[in-house]
Amino acid sequence: MTSSGPVEIRSFAGGADLAGDGWIERVNPARFTEVVGRVSTVDAAGASAAVEAAHTAFSAWRHVDVADRCAQLLVAADAVGATTEGLGPLLARELGKVVGDCRGEMGFASACLRSVAASAPGIVADRTVSDDAGRLTVQHLPFGVVAAIVPWNAPLILSILKVAPALACGNTAVVKPSPLAPLAVTRALRSIADALPLGVLSVIHGGAEVGETLVGHRLVRKVAFTGGGVTARLVGATAARAITPVVMELGGNDPAIFLDDAPFDGAAMERVVFGTFLTSGQVCMAAKRLYVPRARADEFTDAYVSAAERVLRLGDPLDPTVTVGPMASPQQRSFVADLVGDAASRGATIHELGTVADVDLEGGWFLRPTLVTGVDDDWPIVADEQFGPTVPLCLYDDLDDAIARANDSELGLASSVWSADEDRAFEVAHRLEAGMTFINCHNRAGMSLRAPFGGVKQSGSGREFADEGIAEYLQTHSIHAPAAVRAGGPATAANAYPGQ
Ligand code: NAD
Repeated sequence: MTSSGPVEIRSFAGGADLAGDGWIERVNPARFTEVVGRVSTVDAAGASAAVEAAHTAFSAWRHVDVADRCAQLLVAADAVGATTEGLGPLLARELGKVVGDCRGEMGFASACLRSVAASAPGIVADRTVSDDAGRLTVQHLPFGVVAAIVPWNAPLILSILKVAPALACGNTAVVKPSPLAPLAVTRALRSIADALPLGVLSVIHGGAEVGETLVGHRLVRKVAFTGGGVTARLVGATAARAITPVVMELGGNDPAIFLDDAPFDGAAMERVVFGTFLTSGQVCMAAKRLYVPRARADEFTDAYVSAAERVLRLGDPLDPTVTVGPMASPQQRSFVADLVGDAASRGATIHELGTVADVDLEGGWFLRPTLVTGVDDDWPIVADEQFGPTVPLCLYDDLDDAIARANDSELGLASSVWSADEDRAFEVAHRLEAGMTFINCHNRAGMSLRAPFGGVKQSGSGREFADEGIAEYLQTHSIHAPAAVRAGGPATAANAYPGQ
């Protein structure tokens, strides 16, 4: 595959490149011999300076009329949309995600900004009532500086889902991307920042210590975190010490439940295969446990394996025929390979899926996609979030039992129900413990800009997307003149409990 030379990109704050404390270098996960580029990092003082610049910018940005802020976000949407062709391949090379999906990520960022710009004015607007209960104005106000801490698997989307609503509501933002995908996201966010007043949006790089500095900073008023449960506990503890509110979007172990009437035709099977293996399975809302009626196990396995043969092709993410790239890190590759190895050693059958393009599999962090059959629910391959290109097939005899097993997890991000009868699928969906349930699809296919996104239980708290995702970045200020006081009534009336 053709590629250009290494890029050098800097952290920026207050509209300027930061001098930098060191560098994070990123190697192509499809070809370890290729250095894709490097970003400059900051130390704790640099992180603090970025927050202070964002705090200074907040004092003016909060007073810009919401319609003007949204108009500026529309200009930013055009700017980031224009980066698609240039940054799609860069993201593919640093992350291992197939290039078409990477271009899609840039386009989606643009769409997300437009959607927020259209909805925010109605949500930010004051609400005033004046009636026989009194006069009440509820203001919807920004918090101040928002720290956005994001993982690597969809670095731009997961940044934009925080940045767009935060800025539309009058906050300013400092983003800390993951060291595993720092390059394209910085360029894309710089194109947005350059369309806005200085300091409204900054991006700084570093590891855990930079993230901790941001989360614990006295001028950071809200934290938006997407990542794994281990880091989430650290972030939550640091934020709690500063009493800073946090939105958390964490991992999932999503069940996909196929009812006894679910069609296993080619289109449906291709949807579930993609629902599992997009971004090599490294997606929080990938289908990670497949529940199928025992009586239809062979039929499902045959249909799934042949759909995978048609649509999964492992190889270099810049190859347009490839649909599954390498994994993003050797640690995650080993973790998933060990899960599969453990299942095999317990007697499971491992079905290798799809085809392999002309690529040096030993020269990158490649892992062949697999379907694992003959498993028990308490094996790690079922009980843990795999976050990689493998999925277990879990058989059930009774639907109530399947629902109970699907719900028997500390995680509850997404889920799906598959049936020829949509009403029946919705009824089953009502019984699932999840923030989202998709009908006859899973993963990206089930997303909607109007559907709140987020999990229950240890999959997180708070929401992204939709009106709920905008409201996360507003706090209320109630201004109230009670009727009894306005009328000059006696102290006894003014001091009465309300509503009686
Ligand atoms: P991670 O938790 O390791 O890292 C996330 C971010 O936190 C990175 O930017 C990292 O540098 C930073 N960080 C690390 N230690 C920190 C600390 N002590 N304080 C502050 N920041 C710190 O996650 P990851 O490996 O990058 O991503 C994989 C996980 O993210 C998976 O569990 C996946 O399911 C989850 N995820 C969830 C969603 C969602 O929307 N629910 C989306 C994508 C990924």
